Amino acid sequence: MYRHQWVNGKQIDLPAGKVVCVGRNYVAHAKELNNPIPSVPLIFIKPTTTYQAFDGEMMLDADLGTHHYEAEIALLIGKKLDKHSSAPLEGVVGIGLALDLTLRDEQDKLKKLGHPWERAKAYDGSCPITAFSPVTSIEQLQNNEVRFWLNDELKQVGHSQMMIFPYEKLLFEICRFCTLLPGDVILTGTPEGVGKLMNNASLRLQLNDKKPFTAHVSIQ
Ligand code: ZN
Repeated sequence: MYRHQWVNGKQIDLPAGKVVCVGRNYVAHAKELNNPIPSVPLIFIKPTTTYQAFDGEMMLDADLGTHHYEAEIALLIGKKLDKHSSAPLEGVVGIGLALDLTLRDEQDKLKKLGHPWERAKAYDGSCPITAFSPVTSIEQLQNNEVRFWLNDELKQVGHSQMMIFPYEKLLFEICRFCTLLPGDVILTGTPEGVGKLMNNASLRLQLNDKKPFTAHVSIQ
């Protein structure tokens, strides 16, 4: 069973809550999928059954279709945030990285039909997530970079300063309609360079200049 963890290996004493995701938060990625640049954030949710640790062996179901990666910066919420919260960044207690895995062919079909995205985004195991670094000052949330390698090839680089909606704006927008609880996670959107995962691939995620996280994906 997945539990949130700190980078030192200790379990985090918070439940694994809902995953609130933002789509199209980097201009170059919106363009690569021929999507318009949003004027308000596009928000969707992955249920808690989507978590799996991005650490060692990752399992995905081949029968679902082709899984595409989206490397994203993940924020761990440590206190209740709602529409009355005036300083939502103070509720962020951890920062990590995640893959917002997507069945892109399925998503394209759903988009055309005007249907919700759950079949493409909310399936079991579709949120591999790393351990979190504790956030003890707001400065730690100012200059964050995510890098993602597939089989040692650098595929994605994203920086928090390239985001259309920075963390604080995102949190305000989400909290206008959806209360965040301790243990919830925010995925802050993916930069350009998304693509397919293949069976047996080796994956690497790095936050800033910290020690990279590695995983191996088994798609069966
Ligand atoms: Zn995403």
